Amino acid sequence: MNLKSHLLPEEIFSSVAKCATKVNLDAYVIGGFVRDIILKRPSKDIDFVCVGSGIQLAKLVAEDLKSNNLSVFKNFGTAMVRHETYELEFVGARKESYQRDSRKPIVEDGSLEDDQNRRDFTINAMAIKLSSEDYGELIDPFDGINDLKKKIIRTPLDPSITFSDDPLRMMRAIRFASQLSFDIEADTFDSIIKQAERINIVSKERIIDELNKIILSPTPSYGFKLLFQSGLLHHIFPEMVSLHGVDTRDGKSHKDNFYHTLQVLDNISKNTNYLYLRWAAILHDIAKPPTKRFHKKAGWTFHGHEDKGARMVPGIFKRMKLPMNDKMKYVQKLVKLHLRPIALVRDEITDSAIRRLLFEAGNDVDDLMTLCNADITTKNPTKVKRYLANFKTVKKKLIELEERDKLRNFQPPISGEEIMKRYNLEPSRIVGDIKSEIREAILEGKIENNKEQAEIFMQEIAKARGLEN
Ligand code: ATP
Repeated sequence: MNLKSHLLPEEIFSSVAKCATKVNLDAYVIGGFVRDIILKRPSKDIDFVCVGSGIQLAKLVAEDLKSNNLSVFKNFGTAMVRHETYELEFVGARKESYQRDSRKPIVEDGSLEDDQNRRDFTINAMAIKLSSEDYGELIDPFDGINDLKKKIIRTPLDPSITFSDDPLRMMRAIRFASQLSFDIEADTFDSIIKQAERINIVSKERIIDELNKIILSPTPSYGFKLLFQSGLLHHIFPEMVSLHGVDTRDGKSHKDNFYHTLQVLDNISKNTNYLYLRWAAILHDIAKPPTKRFHKKAGWTFHGHEDKGARMVPGIFKRMKLPMNDKMKYVQKLVKLHLRPIALVRDEITDSAIRRLLFEAGNDVDDLMTLCNADITTKNPTKVKRYLANFKTVKKKLIELEERDKLRNFQPPISGEEIMKRYNLEPSRIVGDIKSEIREAILEGKIENNKEQAEIFMQEIAKARGLEN
């Protein structure tokens, strides 16, 4: 099969071919880029492999393309050239052998065949020849093209060796299955089940990279089900496994919170590509198992799971090497508040309850509503209709009140400094008390959120406390 017409932009590929011929090297495009041109998924990362020095070839190509953006990684024997929006990665063909307790291989120079043998999946092991004779010819020793057609993830060699050599590949298999909506071939999947425990020798950073790609795939529940069935999830994310299962007592059952969470994740994925909003969906019920109780009358309850869940977020983020910054705080906030809009529609929707929600959620209130919408997973159409209608009312009220009161990014209308100056106070508890009384009055709707009304109200408080006569 010749894929010459797919090698675009042409100037890049003809330049590599020209430079390779100049120094008498065989050069190939390989890996993800080849897979993606066949799948018609445009990609900006192009991997080149040559039998010889990748660094030498990269230098020539950078010169030929007049790119002054060349990075050489001597220790790895690789080099990267940036050309317009493309990243061209060059490496010499290599042979790898592994030891049992590490995923760091011993690397030697090798042939194209050696290089293809060390690739993770048949669909990622295809190469396209770039030398002048046979330019564009597909070299596909493991019939990757057929696996692409059949939508199958399969290892080129014995899967037990491929996964044992580098257990990260187990995550990658599931990641590609989830991104591409492919099946994992039975022997390959069995081998993941058998070796799941070996994922523990892989660094947390590499694992989270793959997990995040699964989370960002079109239907992430598919990837999570594969992680669960293979046993990988038990090692990398046990809290999520604990959500699985249904308990029944006195004829009363609760829903399976694992599948519920996955449904919420799929729902939210239709409305957002923001990774951390998807993480909020994954974690919104994470504390249901540790807060689960059975009561004779009420049946199963999960009281306080939103607070406990929010408290669990930092630990989970830290262990998984997710960022411990404002993104973690954002997820924590959404987990903590995820029941609030529901509680709002159950009771009568008072202005003060809406103001409090605006105050606490701040700029993330829209994302919170997106999460709450995704959290509606009941199959009962009457209930769905009612919930959606109620949320609409909440949303409308949120907009009305926000326009009037501007509470999203609440700044106290009178600062602590001003209070101290006015009443000649040292920094002390009373200053905080006055500030929070003003805030409460605003949230309760007693006064509007502006300086004039806050002034008048402050004078009243001060009087009552004997600060002003
Ligand atoms: P994407 O760009 O979506 O991540 P990709 O296939 O380009 O997909 P990379 O991680 O960039 O993924 O890897 C490039 C190529 O390197 C792969 O297509 C595969 O051939 C090879 N590869 C990457 N990681 C491994 C691994 N752990 N074991 C074996 N081969 C690998």
